[in-house]
Amino acid sequence: MKSYSMIRLIKLREYLRLPIVIDRESLASNVSKVQQQIADACTRAGRNPAEVTLLPVSKTFDAQAIRKMVTLGFRRFGENRLQEIAQKAPELADCDIEWVVIGHVQTNKAKEVAKYASELQSLDRIALAEALDKRLAPLNRTLKVLVQVKTSPEESKSGVEPQNLISFLKELTNFPTLKVEGLMTMAVLSDDEIAVRDCFRLLRQCRDQALAAGIKGISLDRLSMGMSGDMALAIEEGSTEVRVGTAIFGKR
Ligand SMILES: *Cc1c(COP(=O)(O)O)cnc(C)c1O
Repeated sequence: MKSYSMIRLIKLREYLRLPIVIDRESLASNVSKVQQQIADACTRAGRNPAEVTLLPVSKTFDAQAIRKMVTLGFRRFGENRLQEIAQKAPELADCDIEWVVIGHVQTNKAKEVAKYASELQSLDRIALAEALDKRLAPLNRTLKVLVQVKTSPEESKSGVEPQNLISFLKELTNFPTLKVEGLMTMAVLSDDEIAVRDCFRLLRQCRDQALAAGIKGISLDRLSMGMSGDMALAIEEGSTEVRVGTAIFGKR
């Protein structure tokens, strides 16, 4: 249990907006616990753990925390705000980091995505695809993208509706700078395991149906699903990438 003075310290840190300092050993131990959870879920599902990538989500944690993760062998980091990437990227210029955007992106942020991101996992509308293509083309670069699918009924979750996915994917073939590699989703926030699992299963079914449609020029090998609280269920339903923040870096 946290002592009273500890709580006061936390409040003081929040008030002064000081970053949470997390040491390398704690990060290493958290990472190995997460890797064990991944391995256990793979065993239950009869899958090879090498099929599941761990994407650390570093949002709200500072460049120093990311640098410690780099010393543990990580190069890709998930972030949900472009402004935050723009702040951290210069401090980490020597680390050769691949920034993965996982949060909702406003169309007017396409320029920053083209500048900083190696990958976008939250592509959810054609207007954004258009804006990205326009910014990427002059830079002569491509962007890996995952299409975010809305598998949960919550208003707060964005993503392409499952019934519109195939036509959406077909439209994306008009943008040669966008390399579609798969799908991403966020499950419903719920204690009901069945409801959460249903979201992940729906994403897998969406992928299977889109594959059957045989759209040329796109790949759907990747399914980014599962976070700190639900990664085991996601892996059992076929996730190839879990996006993990809290279980590695601690509470935000
Ligand atoms: C923050 C975030 C995560 C990580 O969530 P945790 O519960 O901290 O592991 C994963 N995916 C997205 C899209 C996020 O915004």
